[in-house]
Amino acid sequence: MELPFSQAEKDMLARAVEFARSEVAPNAQKWEDERRQPLETLQAASLAGLAGLEVPEHLGGFGGRFRLKARIAEEIARDCYAFSFSLINHMGLAGKIARDAPEEIAKKYLPEMLAGEAIGCTALTEPAAGSDFAAITTHAKKVDGGWIINGEKAWITNAAHADLMFLYAQTDPASGWRGVAGFLIDAREDGVSRVPPFEIMGGHAIGTGGFVLTDHFVPDIRMMSAPGDGFKAAMAGVNAARTYVATMCCGMTEAAIDLAVSYASERAAFGGHIADLQGLRWRLADAQTEVEAARLLAYRAVLAVENGTEAEIPAAHAKKYAARMADEQLSRCMQMMGAAGLKRAYPLGRQIACARIANYVDGTTEIQNERIARALFNKKK
Ligand SMILES: Cc1cc2nc3c(=O)[nH]c(=O)nc-3n(C[C@H](O)[C@H](O)[C@H](O)COP(=O)(O)OP(=O)(O)OC[C@H]3O[C@@H](n4cnc5c(N)ncnc54)[C@H](O)[C@@H]3O)c2cc1C
Repeated sequence: MELPFSQAEKDMLARAVEFARSEVAPNAQKWEDERRQPLETLQAASLAGLAGLEVPEHLGGFGGRFRLKARIAEEIARDCYAFSFSLINHMGLAGKIARDAPEEIAKKYLPEMLAGEAIGCTALTEPAAGSDFAAITTHAKKVDGGWIINGEKAWITNAAHADLMFLYAQTDPASGWRGVAGFLIDAREDGVSRVPPFEIMGGHAIGTGGFVLTDHFVPDIRMMSAPGDGFKAAMAGVNAARTYVATMCCGMTEAAIDLAVSYASERAAFGGHIADLQGLRWRLADAQTEVEAARLLAYRAVLAVENGTEAEIPAAHAKKYAARMADEQLSRCMQMMGAAGLKRAYPLGRQIACARIANYVDGTTEIQNERIARALFNKKK
């Protein structure tokens, strides 16, 4: 299944693919070795027009549809899932500011985001609240002209370099999810400090870390989701995020299959090539079937998100299936390459770490099952 695109979208997709092959593929392992997020490449991607993908033309962006974001994420993830996720998060905040922020805020922040001079992130998770998002304790207290925010955010993609953050905070702990609001935070202002990036098993280009907010003042104009709307906005946004995580899993798994096919075609054994062995050929054929199935689920979710139809369940199915699929099939591709698959020269170890990451971000695989089960049992009532 191919998603149809306009000529301008096809051109943009081709530019993104060219960027991935020339700037991401040759450097991804070096970033991993250095355990760092490549700010310079995020900036280059922004200058190549990718940060403004969802920003309308009159605000300096491209004004692309969601399907284009999902396909670009898929293509860049072929070379480096971690970088693709990082860029997509930056792009996502720019799009959100363009859609939801007052004009004066959009005009202030969008130019620096589109130039890659300010990187964006979204901060829900806290050291003590992950899946149970309504339990966040970062607190926003109303004061004259704005809000005072105190709390800590953890596991935030792009925290290594981000200057702008869409932060969710509790305005009234007694109200539970109804008290959660969304604020645009400028981390260059007083009262925001950065937690050093987390060292993880792999995928350091994602730049995951945290922030501590201490008596940080944010003006009223930068409350972008009022109490109650914040939780609903997060839940709506997460369907889109789950969907592009699914396309990214398809991209990185298909790239691993392509690698295993070319390796097997060259690797000699028992008087032929290992590609001649039917058992190996069939395992790769099965892996490709898994990618095709995951992609159908993912593209169905892309269309639901884009058309504004019910997307929660399509996105949950897509993310659950694709993240599990990537986890299993990347290891199989490595197995089919024998010991060589372990080598640093091949991307499999790095991407396997990212397949693990895909099973956590934007709601774990178990949380997708919770959503699906809830819908199943509600239907039976
Ligand atoms: C690399 C990376 C990047 C990230 N980027 C961001 C980001 O940009 N912004 C952000 O806000 N967050 C981000 N996250 C955080 C991510 O969203 C959380 O890790 C995720 O929501 C799960 O929370 P947790 O890790 O605290 O696990 P927990 O919530 O502590 O869960 C632990 C285990 O319990 C299971 N579990 C929990 N509740 C249930 C349930 N009801 N039923 C069944 N099982 C359950 C989980 O599935 C998991 O296996 C990132 C995480 C990673 C690893």
